[in-house]
Amino acid sequence: MSGNITFTIIKPFAVSNGHVGPILNKIHTAGFKISAMRMLWLTKGEAKIFYAVHKDRPFYMDLVEFMTSGPIVVAVLKKENAVEDFRKLIGSTDPEKADEGTIRKEFAESMRANAVHGSDSDKNANFEASFFFSGLQRF
Ligand code: ATP
Ligand code: MG
Repeated sequence: MSGNITFTIIKPFAVSNGHVGPILNKIHTAGFKISAMRMLWLTKGEAKIFYAVHKDRPFYMDLVEFMTSGPIVVAVLKKENAVEDFRKLIGSTDPEKADEGTIRKEFAESMRANAVHGSDSDKNANFEASFFFSGLQRF
């Protein structure tokens, strides 16, 4: 059983193409509450730290470039079994493989510009949420 928070990013392109509202609507309809949210533009240094788990992967610098190409929206989401349920809601990393009805199926453009991020474990959800927000215990 996983914990009750997860962390998401609405990535560049999804933001610049006007998909923030429709994506938040899907998140809300799926039963998640927004505990914290803000819009920001990552620096290269911040993106490198945030994605440090992928530093040895061939797509690392490409990912850092993309994630710093425009503003993003970051949010902490609350729901029972949040990590697992949110991964189901967003769908496969590769939008061509994402199931019908998932956020990535509807809004992703490619493997890189795949519309949203979702934490893959409780540990990472906590790290990612506290990377962007302080004082979360108050929510
Ligand atoms: P996220 O962490 O964004 O929720 P994920 O957990 O489904 O996505 P990861 O393996 O953690 O996938 O990869 C992180 C991100 O790196 C992906 O969301 C995608 O934007 C990018 N990425 C992954 N694989 C590739 C690839 N082969 N080519 C380009 N970009 C990739
Ligand atoms: Mg991941």
